[in-house]
Amino acid sequence: MTDLITPELTRSEQPRDGQPYLYRRAELVEPDWTRLPGWKDVTAEEWRSAQWQRSHCVKNVKQLREVMGDLLEDRLYDDLTRDQAERATMSMLLPPQMLNTIVPSGADDYTEAFYADPVRRYMLPVFSDRRTDWPSHPHAARDSLHEHEMWATEGLTHRYPTKVLAEVLPTCPQYCGHCTRMDLVGNSTPVIDKLKFVAKPQTRLDDMLDYLRRTPGVRDVVVSGGDVANMPWPRLEAFLTSLLEIENIRDIRLATKALMGLPQHWLSSDVLSGVERVARLARDRGVMLAMHTHVNAAQSVTPLVAEASKAMLEAGLRDVRNQGVLMRGVNDSIPQLLDLCFALLDGANITPYYFYMCDMIPFSEHWRVSVRDAQHLQHGILGYLPGFATPRIVCDVPYVGKRWVHQLSEYDEVRGISYWKKNYRTGIEQQDPEALNRTYEYYDPIDTLPVEGQNWWSQHAGNHLAEAEARAAASRTAAEAQKLLDIN
Ligand code: SF4
Repeated sequence: MTDLITPELTRSEQPRDGQPYLYRRAELVEPDWTRLPGWKDVTAEEWRSAQWQRSHCVKNVKQLREVMGDLLEDRLYDDLTRDQAERATMSMLLPPQMLNTIVPSGADDYTEAFYADPVRRYMLPVFSDRRTDWPSHPHAARDSLHEHEMWATEGLTHRYPTKVLAEVLPTCPQYCGHCTRMDLVGNSTPVIDKLKFVAKPQTRLDDMLDYLRRTPGVRDVVVSGGDVANMPWPRLEAFLTSLLEIENIRDIRLATKALMGLPQHWLSSDVLSGVERVARLARDRGVMLAMHTHVNAAQSVTPLVAEASKAMLEAGLRDVRNQGVLMRGVNDSIPQLLDLCFALLDGANITPYYFYMCDMIPFSEHWRVSVRDAQHLQHGILGYLPGFATPRIVCDVPYVGKRWVHQLSEYDEVRGISYWKKNYRTGIEQQDPEALNRTYEYYDPIDTLPVEGQNWWSQHAGNHLAEAEARAAASRTAAEAQKLLDIN
């Protein structure tokens, strides 16, 4: 799986001291969008416009064809069409900025290069990417982290003792194929009918603020979605200003993949001046306001992304950090992870922070890596980056939360079942005396297991379905039951 040597290097170029990874400062590159037939006349001014980017997003195969033209063979468009109809849990939405980073410098065989590209592999998944033996793990679930069960108010997940996740809206400027919040975020697809918020948007925000005012044990709010870049700035600013008035709130993180996918948004003058106002207010009140983004491949870090990140820091944010997702075929090698981290850190002043293992959502098995491989990758990237910028690779264990991949209690590597414990109660376990004694399970992708383990799952997957049905029967609402059963 993991190539320990920087792959582009010939033997004579390998570092003389025999280090497994060779660091070289790399210049960031904005690929030339005029190489793509549909954008051959697009000006630099148009490209920098957030409005132009939003109105030229690729939302379907027809629009992709209009941009890429004959660069891609029909088989790729057909593969994508089939995936959209039979597998996709997210609808297609790709801003030009992101599409332009796929096959950034052209290729002789464009179709093959497009198939192999790491950004394409997670933003435009095709049917042939997915596994046919185990497309979904028997324990895969729509809301695999059970966030909805932990909603204190609609969209406000209270899982950890001192922090909450505020899903302030259910949309993004770009949709990632592996989105862990696929249950809620984005448009319905032929295979996934999305959950819809019930309350009006302003009522939901007010309810969240009320909860935080009467819950002094919470000090930290991740303002997320979706992606906050899709919330009209005045509404987001009003929400942040109200948050900053709550005495117990000391940390606010703004979650936006758009810093990379649509940096033009964060460079817009109205948004920039708004960020400056909020950052000043946060500083005056001694609150740490930071931005968290989501970059998975080094080629996504372009000069425009760096410009947007630096603009956020100059506007007064305390830090810009990256929370990537670890995925097979995208970034599951030591050189890929380190190249990405150095591009973020050296090129864009973005601090590598976490890599999450891809969650157990439907049809994600081809992306997921085993805990053992994640441990190997964590080991491999230690020692190259400054300690403060060495990302932790974490497993988001259902009903537990983020655990560093070396923190498991037990590991059955044949069946690919890891067992985890926790040191706090989630929002739904306040009265549960056993919550801290119990072990919680996470499952490796079955195709990565030894034959004995794969055979075991072939024989027992039916039992796991029965267990899933029992869990569904015991769940609190019909809607939760349906969610548990939908994929099993
Ligand atoms: S940006 Fe985040 S919330 Fe939006 S689709 Fe991607 S992973 Fe999901």
